[in-house]
This record gives sequence, structure tokens and C-alpha cells, in this order.
Amino acid sequence: MNVPRLAVDLTKIEANARLLVDRLRPRGIRVLGVTKAALGAPEVAAAYERAGVHGVGDSRIQNLGRVRSGGSPLARTLIRSPMRSEVAAVVRDAATSLNSELAVLEALDAAARRARMVHGVVLMVELGDLREGIEADDLVALAIQVERRKGLALRGIGTNLACQSGVVPDQSKMEQLSDLAAAVEASLERPLEVVSGGNSANLAWAASTPDVGRVDELRLGEAILLGTEPLHRCPIAGLHLDACTLHAEVIEVQQKSAQPWGTLGQGAYGPVASRTGSGRRRQAIVAVGRQDVDPDGLTPPTGLLVLGASSDHLVLDADDLGVAVGDCVSFGLDYSALVRAMTSPFVAKDFFQP
Ligand SMILES: *Cc1c(COP(=O)(O)O)cnc(C)c1O
Repeated sequence: MNVPRLAVDLTKIEANARLLVDRLRPRGIRVLGVTKAALGAPEVAAAYERAGVHGVGDSRIQNLGRVRSGGSPLARTLIRSPMRSEVAAVVRDAATSLNSELAVLEALDAAARRARMVHGVVLMVELGDLREGIEADDLVALAIQVERRKGLALRGIGTNLACQSGVVPDQSKMEQLSDLAAAVEASLERPLEVVSGGNSANLAWAASTPDVGRVDELRLGEAILLGTEPLHRCPIAGLHLDACTLHAEVIEVQQKSAQPWGTLGQGAYGPVASRTGSGRRRQAIVAVGRQDVDPDGLTPPTGLLVLGASSDHLVLDADDLGVAVGDCVSFGLDYSALVRAMTSPFVAKDFFQP
């Protein structure tokens, strides 16, 4: 099989998604399965569907187009504000989008009416992480604006924390969101369908809170694909951590001096961490690099240690593990490594069901 190769075990993805769906259901929270780290792969959307997620979310409209072409019956939500220049594609390929700008909403309204459709809107509110969202004080006024437009249907509100500044989605933040939902409902005199509390970083809150309030949806990607939560990158109990793995081939194994010699400047990608040890050590090179993956996010097998990487070479200390030229080495990936590998044209993708 082709290497480097990103292997995605769909049975493990499905199991992870099902466990989260089943844990959250009794709390009244639905799962929007986020496919962006899988580039909207139809195979992943299908695994989410089997697991019982209630919809698919992605930040790129092209990815939602892929999900749609793959035949998934799940409703699609664009989870990044549409670009004003792409609203026609957004009303075609997404039923709903997350929004925070009136200018974009006006363009969406016009595009939806042109297509004789009604586009769903979830208004994002800024609760301190300083990424997307409008000020809480402006939410009701914008909700009323959306409500008046014939091409738009206000489905609910949402927030996103823990992505830009690492602000924790705790009980107080979620209570603020619930209070805002109540305020919007009071002014519109109708209930909202969606109160979207956040991403995988919300799982610890959802598991421990005595009261989820009005939050009825989480948008989950990392937890399903990698089994980790983004706040401390800790494993979540019961989830597979190895649903996604990277496989790459050894192209050189040689005994080398533990230390470089000569006058030292920077490496190809800036200052280089100094190597430890002395004498001679076995070094292996794997044919994968920064054009394929984020090397800092790779976990090698026990006995191998990542020493560094350039565009096309991953250098490993192999003193404690017998590897030979032509061997295939398997790595675990973090979110950054996963996204880079999924996006690289040099990495073959293997979605498989064992
Ligand atoms: C990426 C993203 C998510 C999913 O985040 P995970 O940490 O992968 O669960 C949810 N909401 C928004 C707005 C996102 O951009």
C-alpha cells in the first residue's frame, strides 16, 4: 500500500461517535458531527450517521459539498461564518450556517430568496475566547433582524470557546449562553431549536454539570476522531485514541555521531533543539516531513524518538528499536498532525473497516 498513508479506522470512529451520542443524549444534548479534520470525507460522514449524530458540521463549504455528493442524508451546517462571496454555494450545500455579521446575513438572505429556499441561521455570540461571535448586548437586536428576513430562519444561538484563547467552557459561560437564549426567546416570543454550546472542549462540562441549562447541541470533531479533549489534550475515558494513524517508510538507518559537528547555524525551519547524548547512536530517517504532517504532533512507537524534521525527512533516534530500511513505522497523531496529513496531497488516505 502507498506510503506515507493516513489510515482511518471507521469502526473506531463510529464507536467513538456512538459513545458520545449515547452519553450526551440523556442530558438532552445532540451531537453535530464535525468532519473538517477529515475534509468532509463521505466515509466519515457515513460512520457518524451510523452512530446516531443528528447532523454534520464543517467549516468549509467545499467539504459539505463532498458530504452532500457522498449521499449522506444528514443535515449540513457550515460552522464558520460564510464568506460573503460564497453565499450561493452556502445556501445550496448547507441547510444552516453559523453567523455573526449582518452584511453576510443580508447576502445569505438574498441568495436564499434567489434560490427559493430558506436558510437556517445560528447566531454566534462572543463569550470571551475572542474568535467569532457578536457582543452579548447586540444579540437580541441581530436576532430580530434575522427574524424579519424571508430568506432566513433563525434556528438558534451558539458560542465557541477554547479555540483562540483557550477560555474554558465552564458552568458560568454556559449559564450566560442559556440566559441569552432565554432573552432571544422572550423577544421573539417563540422557542429556539438550537442552543449550540461549543466543541469537544465542552465535554468535561457536559459530563459534570448538574444542569445543562438550555444547551442542546455540541459540535464535536476532535473527540470523535482522536478520542481526546482539546483543553488539556487528555484521553476521554472509553474512546479509541488510535482511530487515525500515520504510516511511513524508513529510507535510511545508520550509526551516526550523537552530536552534529561543524559550525552551527539554524536548520531549514529555524533554530534546532540541541541533541542529547554522546558517542554514536543509531539514527533512522522516515520519508515523511513537514509537507505531509506536523512532526511535533506525531507519537512514534516505543523505542523510537523524533529528533526533528524538515520538509521531507523525519529523523528518529532508533537506538532502542530495530528498524530497517523498507520498514513501515506507525505513528499516532494529534489534531494538528491529523489536519496536516489529511490536507497533504502526498499522503494517501485509507478509510477502512476492519
Ligand atoms: C472546529 C470547530 C468545532 C469542532 O471542534 P473540535 O474541538 O474538533 O470538537 C466546533 N465548532 C466550531 C465553530 C469549530 O470551528
